[in-house]
Amino acid sequence: MLGLMQDQPLLISGLIDFADKHHGDGDVVSRRVEGDIHRYTWSDVARRSRQVANALDGMKLGFSDRVATIAWNGYRHLELYFGVSGSGRVLHTINPRLHPEQIAWIANHAEDQVLCFDMTFLPIIQAVHSKCASVKHWVAMCDADKLPSDTGIPNLISYEAWMGSQSTTYQWPVFDENTASSMCYTSGTTGNPKAALYSHRSTTLHAYAAALPDVMCISARDAILPVVPMFHVNAWGIPYSAALTGAKLVFPGPGMDGKSVYEMIENEGVTYAAGVPTVWQMLLTYMKPNGLKFSTLKRTVIGGSACPPAMIDAFRDDYGVEVLHAWGMTELSPLGTLCTLKNKHLKLPKEEQMKLLLKQGRAIYGVDMKIVNDAGDEQPHDGKAYGDLLVKGPWVVANYYKGEGNPLVKDKDGHDWFPTGDVATIDADGFMQITDRSKDVIKSGGEWISSIDIENIAVAHPAVAMAACIGVAHPKWDERPIVAVVKKPDAQVSREELLAFYEGKTAKWQIPDDVVFVDSIPIGATGKMLKTKLREQLKDYKLPTA
Ligand code: AMP
Repeated sequence: MLGLMQDQPLLISGLIDFADKHHGDGDVVSRRVEGDIHRYTWSDVARRSRQVANALDGMKLGFSDRVATIAWNGYRHLELYFGVSGSGRVLHTINPRLHPEQIAWIANHAEDQVLCFDMTFLPIIQAVHSKCASVKHWVAMCDADKLPSDTGIPNLISYEAWMGSQSTTYQWPVFDENTASSMCYTSGTTGNPKAALYSHRSTTLHAYAAALPDVMCISARDAILPVVPMFHVNAWGIPYSAALTGAKLVFPGPGMDGKSVYEMIENEGVTYAAGVPTVWQMLLTYMKPNGLKFSTLKRTVIGGSACPPAMIDAFRDDYGVEVLHAWGMTELSPLGTLCTLKNKHLKLPKEEQMKLLLKQGRAIYGVDMKIVNDAGDEQPHDGKAYGDLLVKGPWVVANYYKGEGNPLVKDKDGHDWFPTGDVATIDADGFMQITDRSKDVIKSGGEWISSIDIENIAVAHPAVAMAACIGVAHPKWDERPIVAVVKKPDAQVSREELLAFYEGKTAKWQIPDDVVFVDSIPIGATGKMLKTKLREQLKDYKLPTA
């Protein structure tokens, strides 16, 4: 017997319609590329998204045709999120930090028909446009009078000229909720990037889940600053969850430096911010010497890379801001776990709570996970046994775009799982902790050493700005850890002092064999440390202990 409830497909157009109808006067504020602040409301977003949809119809774009963006977090990008997907096309967000050759490769692979870009990225477009054979329309996301005349890009039009004169009414089409809505290429350090192709259903379910109190806890009382970029995994789904809840959105535009982020938070009464650790490091580095405090910020979600304990401490103790540690992946839309305490943990002493809050967190309903050993046997949830982390759920990839490389593995019961490439423990309360990327794990004398643990200890030292731990070949132990360290400006620490700092903080045999001071640690397009590159840089390095 079937249930007798209404069958309405979960579509992204439903989110913007809802925002328009139920919190139409809610604010959306953006710092523009021009430097000024732009303000309007959710109803304005909805109206202009409908104009975008009409403009795409005017270009005779077909159902599921790809429309690409290379843009900062801002209001025009938000309109494209809803206008492109809502009208049945696929929004392809491209990461501008990729090499131009890679951008051209991705645009060709996705067969993008339209490419909309912020003026900051004009030099990239000038470098790649002749190589992007499928792109028929180039749209500069600016006012008509800001469009330069001599760009060399054929038929370049301004966003405002393109969509500004379109009708503001539009009947959003109704179609299967499994239809593709947006796509994002993985940062893939080896081989060509592969695309996760999200659907209206996966995106809407993820938007519901992300807003839950134990997930990102997004509500109509929040003013949210997503520093996490809209060009990478849809800014962790925040634009959709904000439309669903009626939260105020505050977009930083190109201003990702500490000063700009701080000003946005204070000027706009931001209660809630989300980003990767490197961005928060810049913010804290700016605030401390200037003696600044937050007047409205209550919570920040930190994910994308492991959040060092020193950062959680600084936010909590110096600024009264709660840190929510999050873990996810492009292939997971991206949220997998968020770290929040359970009722039974509330009475624990602060240090015990801290041990839990450092972990990557508990699975969100919608993401099932387990850890397995090399033979595929499930490992116990005791917080000690580690294994390859496998996940499955309605917002986890089943396949990559164009069917490239089957991403799934079968377990012994015949169920399909997505292997994350992360190594993790899970404790009895379900808290998952990443110890490494599987390719970064250090194997010393048959035992595994977590590079994340070694890095966390180093960055807790007051003189250390950044640390990356890698394994180096050793004749007796196979591999031994060393830690590459970037010192804070004007700070001093010697190799011996730093090694002594490890004493008592980790098992003796896990203490790195050496400290290598470097000017910088290579960072990839999504803000993560590029250990492959670091290993290359240190290829002639010889262990003093070998
Ligand atoms: P991406 O698909 O580019 O977003 O990268 C996903 C990968 O980032 C994951 O598989 C993890 O290795 C890493 N990652 C994301 N969040 C965290 C976190 N909170 N702690 C440690 N690693 C993380």
